[in-house]
Amino acid sequence: MERLTGLRAAVTGGAQGIGEAIAKRLAAEGARVAVLDLNGEGAARVLPAPHIGLACDVTDSASVDKAFAEIKAAFGGIDVLVNNAGIGTAPGDGMDKYYVAQAEQAAGKDVFADQTIHCEDTGWLRVLDVTLNGAFRCTRAAVRLMAEEGIGGSIVNIGSTAAVKGNGPVPYCVAKAGVIGMTRAMAREFAGRGIRVNAVNPGAVETPIYAGLPEEVKQAVADDSLMRRLASPDEVAGAVAFLAGSDGSFATGSTVTVNGGAWFD
Ligand code: NDP
Repeated sequence: MERLTGLRAAVTGGAQGIGEAIAKRLAAEGARVAVLDLNGEGAARVLPAPHIGLACDVTDSASVDKAFAEIKAAFGGIDVLVNNAGIGTAPGDGMDKYYVAQAEQAAGKDVFADQTIHCEDTGWLRVLDVTLNGAFRCTRAAVRLMAEEGIGGSIVNIGSTAAVKGNGPVPYCVAKAGVIGMTRAMAREFAGRGIRVNAVNPGAVETPIYAGLPEEVKQAVADDSLMRRLASPDEVAGAVAFLAGSDGSFATGSTVTVNGGAWFD
């Protein structure tokens, strides 16, 4: 069944990983999709016409506004935005020193695994700029278009385990907790316009991040969930498709957790 027929959607960070799976799922459900990514060529490869792929840097308001102007020109407007672009770490955020100390601990050395005291402003700000501020910039651009048409819309933000459990690089946990806060505040703000704002909080998902990890590390992450495996990107995409379209018509301000039972909330 094509649940999203007639809807016009944009997915940020859609050239690979979870974003690519979301873009393909929304298209398979009948939406016309704009894939936005830092990697414009990769974005263009994800789906054939009438879908489009655009270079877009979510840390740059001019780049975001240009991409949404192109979406308006191609689709006439937008009904669904998925804020998926995000980074877990950035140069200068102190994670390199954290990993060294963690390895030393594992080898029996009595050291603290610190991140914060090694985190420079550049690393802190970069993670927040992509992961939190990027979602703000794209939402602002999308809601401007939605408001012009006055027919409502749906925004789905991708959160993380890190937003709930604080288990990750500190700026990333802060950014994802901010994404959930933004989801709730904007759900209130835009309800009168008929624009729903929700989030999906995935647990560990089988993406290129995990491909390079040793099998035992991957299994330890998997064992953290009751299902003892990682999610497939498409299992996240299914939750996004539910929230994006009319199946999710009474959901706003909510967070759908897709974590194999890694935690209950
Ligand atoms: P990937 O790193 O595989 O994909 C992210 C995409 O976003 C890449 O194509 C990347 O482009 C793009 N991107 C990065 N920076 C920008 C930017 N400034 N502007 C536009 N696009 C950008 O990530 P995942 O698929 O693993 O994760 C997707 C989302 O899901 C993220 O928000 C992540 O935090 C979240 N998440 C992931 C989990 C996991 O286990 N994988 C678990 C929970 C949440 P490029 O490669 O060119 O840099």
